[in-house]
Amino acid sequence: MEAKKIRSTFIEFFQSKQHQFVPSSPIVVKNDPTLMFTNAGMNQFKDAFLGNEIAKYPRVANSQKCLRVSGKHNDLEEVGVDTYHHTMFEMLGNWSFGDYFKKEAIAWAWELLTEVYGLPKDRLYVSVFKGDAGDQLAMDQEAYDLWKSIVPEDRIIMGSKKDNFWEMGDTGPCGPCSEIHIDLRPDSERSEIPGRELVNNDHPQVIEIWNLVFMQFNRLADGSLKELPAKHVDTGMGFERLVRAIQNKSSNYDTDLFKPFLDAIAAKSGKTYGQNEPTDIAFRVIVDHIRAIAFTIADGQIPSNNKAGYVIRRILRRAVRYGYTFLGLQQPFLFELAPLIAEYFGDIFPEVRQQQEFIAKVIQEEEASFLRTLDNGLKMLESIKSELNAKGESLIPGKTAFELYDTFGFPLDLTSLISRENGFSVDEAGFAAEMEKQKTRSRAVSEQETGDWVQVSEDAGVEFIGYDFTEAYSQIIKYRTI
Ligand code: ATP
Ligand code: MG
Ligand code: MG
Ligand code: MG
Repeated sequence: MEAKKIRSTFIEFFQSKQHQFVPSSPIVVKNDPTLMFTNAGMNQFKDAFLGNEIAKYPRVANSQKCLRVSGKHNDLEEVGVDTYHHTMFEMLGNWSFGDYFKKEAIAWAWELLTEVYGLPKDRLYVSVFKGDAGDQLAMDQEAYDLWKSIVPEDRIIMGSKKDNFWEMGDTGPCGPCSEIHIDLRPDSERSEIPGRELVNNDHPQVIEIWNLVFMQFNRLADGSLKELPAKHVDTGMGFERLVRAIQNKSSNYDTDLFKPFLDAIAAKSGKTYGQNEPTDIAFRVIVDHIRAIAFTIADGQIPSNNKAGYVIRRILRRAVRYGYTFLGLQQPFLFELAPLIAEYFGDIFPEVRQQQEFIAKVIQEEEASFLRTLDNGLKMLESIKSELNAKGESLIPGKTAFELYDTFGFPLDLTSLISRENGFSVDEAGFAAEMEKQKTRSRAVSEQETGDWVQVSEDAGVEFIGYDFTEAYSQIIKYRTI
């Protein structure tokens, strides 16, 4: 089944159960000071859950564009290194606002996965909240009993508060959740360790696909829990992971959602995906990041020097640097993927088709300017080398390497690579020490976590995201004018 069909099947399935299809809300959040990007399908229904607003429909389903690169959910470090966390992904979801509850949510999730999509039952595991004595929270017996009537008991896993209890913040609606996981290992490996032991253990082939949250309580300011008069269901299923499971692939990137993008980068770079790990990571970073970049630009957020724009700028630069370092892509190349985004996502998200040319233009300009920065960095490296040569030295000090990194966005591996080619080496320990100092400084930049909503202060120009480097962009401008 093709990805497009998998998505429409989800929507149609819930429409057949009287759900209203609601379009995705923008990925860039403009009117909520506590959240920069949509990070879950439920964000747009926050007010309904908080009781500030009456839900328009009792049952809703959609595919929500999400971005998890900041705050409570920051998956950036995993992206490209693993094969199932993305920056931008689609979250398929169904909701009940004071209407149906656990019984229907569980039965429908199982019906859709096993009967409609035909996923093998003996590869699925479900988790149930086991309770938390410290917080006086009882085990979710109701969900356990419902699952027990559907799956053998050894497929039910008891989960901790971390994985199986959802809270919006310190106060407000909350409740236990049940997650569905799938074991996609080949049969030969499955006979060795039972899948249940690998659930929620970062195994790349035993992955979580669907989270069913049952909003049952309201947490009050004194920490106590009160049963909600109206109970809600909030589910989220990672679309790319679902497609991978249905298409029976060992990586999200092997599905038809990413394949055309990998092929385009292979054609452009002359390199082949699947040959060695460093280049593979670069391929994955690029085909992942282009989605985050294109979708945010389509929603009106262009790369810039602050807040959401800065996050996007850094994601774009990360993709460019990976291409530059590992795939030899030294001219703008990302923008050429914009037409593919329009082709593959234009039906469900018309904004990426309507703004295809604008998206490409913004990306191309941003790439070109960053590549000039890289060029400047290379020139600076040249002069550093002549200075060292004059002194008869061959070690680039950590502080200098860090300056290159911090000022020109020059990653350490790039500096090391170029240095090695020229008979120099880099003081990597010194670099790490400078990085540590920088991190300590930027930790001081205020960012206050409030559960799923992240407080970002007005002047927080840097360090929104757990990024692989902290880049003081303003210094580039300073450098240029000197
Ligand atoms: P994980 O434990 O794998 O990080 P999660 O528990 O953080 O996932 P939820 O917040 O429960 O994820 O989100 C609902 C669903 O969205 C998950 O079951 C998963 O299928 C999907 N999902 C979550 N994060 C990502 C991501 N970064 N990329 C792709 N899909 C994701
Ligand atoms: Mg996560
Ligand atoms: Mg999880
Ligand atoms: Mg989860």
